[in-house]
Amino acid sequence: MIIVAFVIAATTLTVMWLLLAHFLPDVSSRSKKSLLHLQTGLLAVIVAFTFSYPSVSAATHPKVGKECSKIGQTEVHKGKMFKCVKKGKKVVWKRVKTAQVPRPAVTQSAPATSDRSTFSPALGCKLGSPWPDESENAGFPRGANFAPALGDRKSLVIFVEFPDVPRDERQIQEWKNHQIPAAEKAYGVMSYGKYNLRYEYKEKFFRLNDPSLYYYKNYAKLIQDAVAQAQKEIDISRYDFVNVVTPNTDNIPDEGAAGWAGGIGTMGPIGEYLDNPSKRNWLMHETGHVLGLMHGYDYRGASLGAWDVMANSFGLSDDLLGWNKFKLGWVADTEIDCLGDGVSRETVHRLGPIGAAGENTKLVVVKLNETEALGIELRRKTDIDYLTAEAEGVLVYKIDTKIPSGEGAFQIVSNPTKFSTGTNGNRVLLGTMKLNEEVDFAGVKVKVIHEDSDSAYVSLSSSV
Ligand SMILES: [Zn+2]
Repeated sequence: MIIVAFVIAATTLTVMWLLLAHFLPDVSSRSKKSLLHLQTGLLAVIVAFTFSYPSVSAATHPKVGKECSKIGQTEVHKGKMFKCVKKGKKVVWKRVKTAQVPRPAVTQSAPATSDRSTFSPALGCKLGSPWPDESENAGFPRGANFAPALGDRKSLVIFVEFPDVPRDERQIQEWKNHQIPAAEKAYGVMSYGKYNLRYEYKEKFFRLNDPSLYYYKNYAKLIQDAVAQAQKEIDISRYDFVNVVTPNTDNIPDEGAAGWAGGIGTMGPIGEYLDNPSKRNWLMHETGHVLGLMHGYDYRGASLGAWDVMANSFGLSDDLLGWNKFKLGWVADTEIDCLGDGVSRETVHRLGPIGAAGENTKLVVVKLNETEALGIELRRKTDIDYLTAEAEGVLVYKIDTKIPSGEGAFQIVSNPTKFSTGTNGNRVLLGTMKLNEEVDFAGVKVKVIHEDSDSAYVSLSSSV
């Protein structure tokens, strides 16, 4: 290409020179000198043009056996791929067969969704509980004794030691490096930024006056005494709740959240969760209790599975069920499709993932009676839902607010035989449904009728 351009340039200059010499025979030697400058300038312009002009002429197309310059270079011409390779002493183009690129599937257009104004107000789906304002339960409203769940909030961590059980330096390290960062991140993500919790602490151990056995089963007193010690140095009124962290001892056999005279707090030894990656959500879980969430799963075996940090998620998810987020006010009333009178006609709903912010419908609730409902939500992989593609899908569960903590208030009803393995090797129920899968429960048929990158569409109809 460059050689060709040079030839053209040289020919042009020669012709010009001859023409000029012919038509201007009387030019002075001074003028001839200027003419020479003009020629040189023209040559420069042509050379510059030659170098800058992109190589698009037909002469550059690769062809099998034709010489090329750069080994390894590939080029596609008329849908065929060529590669510049060394063949013997020559460097030539070779045809390369490429794998057929699959043609993208023709995307089925999204189905029309039902008019949301025909649904019940979200209030109609806020099931009550037989124990309002008392203990943790699955219903509405949240008891006033629990910590606030909205806004910028602070919690105080108090590390303690007993006269008979010395401090364990790992208490602080575990909290600083694992428990606190994991919980702060998870609550920000779970709540879509509506609950920004920060845990603060002094890097010191507060010594309690009584021996560890004194606090056996007396956890309110443990929290109260820990606060009394910390209060000498820290203004406790700045915090919504406290977390008392004890060294490991059999004299403190329990762990969890407890109400005390001044409010609510978590307490527990570090034995179980120290250096155990599947327990990095311990503080996250206990904080859920402080907010009024209970164990929705069944201690006797019917696992709630991977889907809620208040269950045995075994490291598969640090998120919450949509119902729990609804209860805490993180899923807004406008993000609920509430069928307050059950299902009497076919409806179509577009669900955004429960783990993603944005004003989507995040949860469909079908009220079955005063204390029972179906929850339908979409689970996709997020920063705190550690899902494989296979585990993702639409989850359908039954909510029963008259069932107490640990006895299965939440029960997965879709795909009850779809399990996964948690980080400890435990079998964990997934229950998610993919496209065209359906479940028929309590007279309600739920079917996944469309999926795309950021939503799933479900149809609901009566099966009775
Ligand atoms: Zn718990």
